[in-house]
Amino acid sequence: MFQTTTAIIGAGFMGPVHTEGLRRLGINVAGILGVDDKESTKAAKTLGLPRAYKSFAEVMADKSVQAVHITTPNRLHFEMAQAALKAGKHVLCEKPLAMNSKESAKLVELAAKTGLIAGVNYNLRFYPLSIEAKNRVEKGLVGSVYSVTGSYVQDWLLYPTDYNWRVLAEEGGKLRAIADIGTHWLDLVQTITGLEVEAVCADLYIVHPVRQRPKGEVETFKGKVSKIKATEPVEINTDDGGSIMLRFKGGAKGSLFVSQTTAGRKNCLRYEIAGAESAMYWNSEDPNNIWLGHRNKANEVLHRDPGLLSDAARAFVSYPGGHNEGYGDTFKQCFKAFYSYIADGDMKAKPQFPTFADGHKEILLCEAILKSHQKGGWVTLK
Ligand code: NAD
Repeated sequence: MFQTTTAIIGAGFMGPVHTEGLRRLGINVAGILGVDDKESTKAAKTLGLPRAYKSFAEVMADKSVQAVHITTPNRLHFEMAQAALKAGKHVLCEKPLAMNSKESAKLVELAAKTGLIAGVNYNLRFYPLSIEAKNRVEKGLVGSVYSVTGSYVQDWLLYPTDYNWRVLAEEGGKLRAIADIGTHWLDLVQTITGLEVEAVCADLYIVHPVRQRPKGEVETFKGKVSKIKATEPVEINTDDGGSIMLRFKGGAKGSLFVSQTTAGRKNCLRYEIAGAESAMYWNSEDPNNIWLGHRNKANEVLHRDPGLLSDAARAFVSYPGGHNEGYGDTFKQCFKAFYSYIADGDMKAKPQFPTFADGHKEILLCEAILKSHQKGGWVTLK
């Protein structure tokens, strides 16, 4: 079905996840580029990919490749996305899109100028029950939204000995937990409700002002299972988490709590959306069920059974009810939306995948959140 050939940049946690999602859709992956020859070759071999690229320039020069997936650390996103667009390739970039809004604005402009398709991987939009939640809002089943609350919490950076490039502002950006996972939540709830955050009031925190950096890099989430021999202390100035009050355009209120130091919560995104007619609660650690709250009848739990879902959600379900779908499936479904858009060729159609404009919006939000934390008060978005 899909004619586009793609290449993967980055071979850590995300590179293989993207490769797997693409292959499940039958999309041809020409090859992969890691940080050096050794990483590229090992990744190509493990994933059974035909080519281990030797350099970024080699990927750009590969005429057989029409799209690239950027899965490198955040500081490289801008440069690589810009170069790929200039080389005439569609881009699916991991989040956050860039290190600041100056960079992300440039990317939005460049993508529009080239007419190429440019997406940012807010894949969590593609849990079918969150698409169902969006559909319920659109059908008026939730009514006017009064409040949007929730959290995104993990435990992989709980100890001062837990370390990853993300903890350094120069590698990941000035905000860490908020940008890394908080923006997933913010993107998701705005997509579901159709509401836009108008103002924020943030209180961020750092649990470990000093962390022990292993001599040698640690892949995301691998700190617990790899054997670390020697370490050195590093000062940390990025957030381990924080609380953010939210005001949406139109008057709805909200709050988000983010943490990467909550023991036992491995990767737990929760939202509760309450409206005039009903409420909805969903938890990413139980993604195949959504709770529907009612005032005048018994509450319900809707299971991800294609036979029970709207057409909109069913379009992003691959398995029957009871055959659970999870995190890996969200990548496949996000890429399906991205590559279907390329295949359809109607650039005027509203994209179902998260665009560079959505990525830029999240960076503006991050900057407002940081400003709010620094000044200790509300900040209205520009
Ligand atoms: P990681 O450290 O596990 O992997 C990064 C990879 O990039 C490594 O293989 C590294 O060697 C490689 N790399 C570094 N410099 C390079 C260069 N110049 N050229 C080619 N490769 C290079 O990190 P990760 O967790 O995979 O995160 C990568 C990106 O994905 C980040 O932007 C992160 O925010 C995002 N991410 C998204 C999700 C999601 O659910 N959407 C989850 C995790 C990470």
